[in-house]
Amino acid sequence: MTFDLETFDPDAAMSRMMQQYRDAKTQHPGMLVLFRNGDFYELFEDDAELGSRVLGITLTKRDGSIPMAGVPVHKLEHYLGLLLRAGHRVAVCEQMEEPDPKKKIIPREVNRIVTPGTITDDGLLDPRAPNYLVALVPAAKAGVYGIAWVDLSTGYFSAADVPTPKLSDELSRLNAVECLFADALTNAVAQAAGMHLPRSRVARPDWTFDPSTALAALKTHFAVSTFTGFGFEDAQPGLVAAGAVIIYLQETLKASLQHIRRLRPHRPDTLLALDEVTRRSLELTRTLRDNQRDGSLLSVLDRTVTPMGARLLHDSVLAPLTDRPAINARLDAVEELLKDHALRRAVREHLEACSDIQRLTTRVSTAKAGPRDLSAIARTLRKLPAVKAKLTGRRSPLLQELEKRLELCPDIRELLDKAIEDDPPHIAKEGGVIRAGFSAELDELRALTTDGKNWIARYQAQEITRTGIGSLKVGYNEIDGYYLEITNANETKTPAEYKHQKTLKNAKRYYTPALREYEEKVVTAQDKSRALELQLFLTLRDQVAAQTPRLLNTAEVLAALDMLSALAELAAARNYVRPVLVDEPILDIRDGRHPVLDQILPPGTFVPNDAAFGPDDGTFWLVTGPNMAGKSTFLRQVALITLMAHMGSLVPAKSATIGMTDRIFTRVGASDELSRGQSTFMVEMTEAANILNNATPRSLVILDEIGRGTATYDGVSLAWAMTEYLHDAIGCRSLFATHYHELAQLATALPRLRNYNVLVRELADEIVFLHKIAPGNAERSYGIHVARLAGVPDAVLKRATAVLSSLEKQHELPGVSTPSVVTAPALGTTPVVSGDLPPRKTNVVQPPEAPRRKPKPQPSSPSLFGEGEDVPF
Ligand code: ADP
Repeated sequence: MTFDLETFDPDAAMSRMMQQYRDAKTQHPGMLVLFRNGDFYELFEDDAELGSRVLGITLTKRDGSIPMAGVPVHKLEHYLGLLLRAGHRVAVCEQMEEPDPKKKIIPREVNRIVTPGTITDDGLLDPRAPNYLVALVPAAKAGVYGIAWVDLSTGYFSAADVPTPKLSDELSRLNAVECLFADALTNAVAQAAGMHLPRSRVARPDWTFDPSTALAALKTHFAVSTFTGFGFEDAQPGLVAAGAVIIYLQETLKASLQHIRRLRPHRPDTLLALDEVTRRSLELTRTLRDNQRDGSLLSVLDRTVTPMGARLLHDSVLAPLTDRPAINARLDAVEELLKDHALRRAVREHLEACSDIQRLTTRVSTAKAGPRDLSAIARTLRKLPAVKAKLTGRRSPLLQELEKRLELCPDIRELLDKAIEDDPPHIAKEGGVIRAGFSAELDELRALTTDGKNWIARYQAQEITRTGIGSLKVGYNEIDGYYLEITNANETKTPAEYKHQKTLKNAKRYYTPALREYEEKVVTAQDKSRALELQLFLTLRDQVAAQTPRLLNTAEVLAALDMLSALAELAAARNYVRPVLVDEPILDIRDGRHPVLDQILPPGTFVPNDAAFGPDDGTFWLVTGPNMAGKSTFLRQVALITLMAHMGSLVPAKSATIGMTDRIFTRVGASDELSRGQSTFMVEMTEAANILNNATPRSLVILDEIGRGTATYDGVSLAWAMTEYLHDAIGCRSLFATHYHELAQLATALPRLRNYNVLVRELADEIVFLHKIAPGNAERSYGIHVARLAGVPDAVLKRATAVLSSLEKQHELPGVSTPSVVTAPALGTTPVVSGDLPPRKTNVVQPPEAPRRKPKPQPSSPSLFGEGEDVPF
């Protein structure tokens, strides 16, 4: 259609464009549409308003009424990254033809869909963390969810059936970026998943979660008729979720999914269970305070040299093992790499030169890879023989197995070496990718191009001689093609047969029929050679894609080797020791150090501590001491050393015997749940309930303050009863840091309870923290001393000292420095305590001596243990 100024109607053109836009919106529900318009991608209407908020770009009005915002074409990837991080899914609607002023409307099509869980582009992914897309489906049987997750960038695909109460733990472990569920079940899923659904939530058509449809899609994808070979029971709800994932990926990517070649059953029973609270409070991958990787356990453990190794380590920190032989196999390998310094250094040097062939292969397999990706694969494959040679003849069975599994893929390497230039350009279209000698046809076309260029050089020399114009030159640009340029000073010498083409300020440009003829040859040959080169590249990429399983297998070997040698490197650098794993639920850590503080504090300043649990050492450690003394540090260090041992890592201690553990539970301090709509005390009790209901004799329980969020006597009573319960009914290894010094009395009644305290030295008004754990309970809390350190005004400190001594006198409990609700006395009077302990009946031991004043009658609030009721153990 040609452009006709007479009939052109800008309003109609605009409305046709908006129609294209709205069609794209309708076809991509729930997605933002980035609509290409010349040098910009535009967002319209609601998307424009949202985009301007999320991207910080200016919101304008098109034609005075339609909200519009735009981003420049060359910054697309940057803005896509921001949208993805904010959890949005985006459809990129492209102009399918070059803009032509003669055409009323340019055809446009959505040719790229970008969602947080389906990206494979390097620039948009964190190289050191997995990127999971997850699907959830409630099972027909109540109380169970099918769950499946895929990291599209590596092809890792897994599924499981999870009891509903455990769902939020699994989700928080995966930290997925995008989540799928059936439209009709939106509310049910949100409720079951708790707080842990990612921001990008996709309510999918219900049929995609229909068991028969989903299972059929899964079977077709893997070309199997049963999943028992993968270790599943056919028709498991997890498989339905997996099928729904495949359907979504097929729709969204419109590309091959052949790199997803296995569905792995997830078996929580083979892993050390860590619930969400524990993962967070132990700061395994992120810090509590600012949610950063720096300062987490992962950040100090991570000495990997490849992104593949870093991701494996990330997953291993969140999922330590419970199978002793498997852990010992890792430990053997790490120890061998630790002891053989030369081996470790060589392996790490070779690995450092390896690229992320896991994600590169995925890009090849999904037809997204460019020439540089193929050349990076080739470079990595070149390193493999040296890696394999280093692994040959090793003692540890795991290293031997890795050696066996490491496929060198020499055929792929030879093909790529022959075909791809050493340092090819980013994109294949422009040429310069394929090596000379790989294709005779390409070499011929290239020769023609070069010959043509030589001819032009010769032609220039010949014309200079013929015309006597020394400054005559033959030039080239895209618009004019080849031309002869003569300066104005030499104009009179211009031969008559030169045809005028263009006048510049100081020169004129001409052409001749001979020049045109050769130009034709050169340009055609160049076009043909570029087209052929692109074709050759695409064929090559397909050939490599066909070898995806072998390449991914090799990538897995490299990841494992990187993780093991990184753990060995860490052990060497920080002087770690190999833990001895035993079946009995004991712990014996000598001179243990907190893995993070040990690295952060100046060398030699961290004070090591022992921890021992077992028949002679007790199972329950009650740790008292002032704030800032190091209680939390000690508790966490015991938990972290136990966890590291289960990962197959050496540990920061002089020696460590670790009894196999099924779960680590922690409840520490006040967390940030207030923002989630729960009071601190409610959170504390919920976490405590979880521990008391789920801990087993094989668990390790860390309690850092319990009962602090309520009145003192409430709090002491709860802490008291929980201590007894953990000690008697569960009997698991437990560490409890508390300011309730009253609990120390329990040692007389509970045979496996031991009192420990963190030593401080008192100097005049000052206290010095020694950070040393020693037997016995702390006499005082030193709260006022710590308040002084924190800069509380002198007047307040003096007054608090007076109140404290008055309270202590009144209660004759010199060791108790945490009064309950205190009605602040008028200056100079005695404080009044209004929370007396009610009398208790217990068959274990009398709780702390009640104050001498007569207890107030409390008809509406019975004793914590119930009237006349025995404590049940
Ligand atoms: P608490 O739980 O008793 O209030 P923390 O465990 O939070 O005390 O420790 C407070 C600070 O003391 C830590 O941030 C750390 O700097 C230091 N600290 C704790 N334990 C040690 C130790 N064993 N060696 C050296 N410094 C320590």
